[in-house]
Amino acid sequence: MKFELSILGSSSATPIYNRNPSAQLLTINEKVYLIDCGEGTQQQLLKYGFKAAKIDTIFISHLHGDHYLGLMGLLSSMHLNGRTKALALFGPPELKELLDLHFRYSATTLRFDLVFNPTQNQLPALIFENADVQVETIVLNHRIACTGFKFTSKSMLPSLREDKVRELDIPITHRALIKKGFPFTDASGKVHDSASLTRPPAPIKTYAYCSDTLCDQSYFEQIKGVDVLYHESTFLHAMLDRANESYHTTALQAGELANRAGVKKLLIGHFSARYKDLNELLDEAKSAFDATELAIEGQTFCI
Ligand SMILES: [Zn+2]
Ligand SMILES: [Zn+2]
Repeated sequence: MKFELSILGSSSATPIYNRNPSAQLLTINEKVYLIDCGEGTQQQLLKYGFKAAKIDTIFISHLHGDHYLGLMGLLSSMHLNGRTKALALFGPPELKELLDLHFRYSATTLRFDLVFNPTQNQLPALIFENADVQVETIVLNHRIACTGFKFTSKSMLPSLREDKVRELDIPITHRALIKKGFPFTDASGKVHDSASLTRPPAPIKTYAYCSDTLCDQSYFEQIKGVDVLYHESTFLHAMLDRANESYHTTALQAGELANRAGVKKLLIGHFSARYKDLNELLDEAKSAFDATELAIEGQTFCI
């Protein structure tokens, strides 16, 4: 199964040094999901060759401008480009008010259905599910209501072994049942169990997006053991006081959290404009958790 994360924006607060505010594209099988939509996201999509028309679901973490100011532009372009397919949008309830106001004063009636689903940040909740993935919110601890998102791929059925299908001449009518675990009796009367006729399914994959937040234990259970954790690392640890005041995390804290949570890989991002060179942040996170990478624009990670 395809489960790929592409980074469109890695900057906190303002665009700087060719870094854009937060936005990520997650491709799961053939479906494309946008996580946060900082200013300039639609230009980042063009720059890296992604089609905005393919996005059917958008998740917005919170209403600081660096996470949603690109949304009006993206939705307007979808409208102008003739989109008719419905678009699902998840975000804090007040986001609806902002969008309604904008479209009211610009006298715009979108050509497509924008299906708004309010999130809340009291308790984690399952907010989205389809054949490929389910998405839960992660309650984060930020200056304003903020949720992260955990994506968990659905367990797939095993696949049939082509050699066995040919060898035993398994009829089409039996194939779905075998994948579901039923045995198969061949023409000679011999019974074959499902496991001997199939290959195991792809393992379940998990991705957690945690931005923006104080690094605390409240969401620890949800990120435990995930394949990839994206965690904001706005500051170096020397700026811990500043991180605490502004409800952000240091690179060292993100590394320590990833280590304790036993994740497979940590991606750090949401970098403060005070750091032109990001290697110090990377080194600091790696000092606590070696499997750390920078989530910078244009990078794609296979999960
Ligand atoms: Zn932010
Ligand atoms: Zn914020």
